[in-house]
Amino acid sequence: MSGTGFPRDVIDTVNERSGELCEAALPGCEGRAVDIQHRRPRGMGGTAKRAREGLHTNCPCNAVAACRACHGWMESHAPEARVLGLAITQHETEPPSSLPVLLRGGVVLLGCDGSTSPASLIDLDEVDEAWVMSADHRDKEWT
Ligand SMILES: [Zn+2]
Ligand SMILES: [Zn+2]
Repeated sequence: MSGTGFPRDVIDTVNERSGELCEAALPGCEGRAVDIQHRRPRGMGGTAKRAREGLHTNCPCNAVAACRACHGWMESHAPEARVLGLAITQHETEPPSSLPVLLRGGVVLLGCDGSTSPASLIDLDEVDEAWVMSADHRDKEWT
């Protein structure tokens, strides 16, 4: 499977998580994963920005195994893919591991170790509360 810049051990972890089957499982899915996609794309910014992003850019929490059909859909439907958590904007400051994603019809959080845990759909009240709660920590380095 094409790694698209992920290190070998991350590819192995994602293959194990996905069973080498497409994790997006959107309508029209072909089943077999042919690619591992970055949810948040690799940054083009300055060194400091890249260093911060680099902590999770090539991490299992930022990776989704996709078949050809779902990969194509995500590329041609970027706004919808972002709503589903399959894609993350470059400007997002939260790590991908804290951003829910719809995989195979379920909303989950992707762990940095290749684990998945169920997550609930986010409602706006929760977002606002989380935003306030995290305000003091926004500049902290991710661990
Ligand atoms: Zn698919
Ligand atoms: Zn991570």
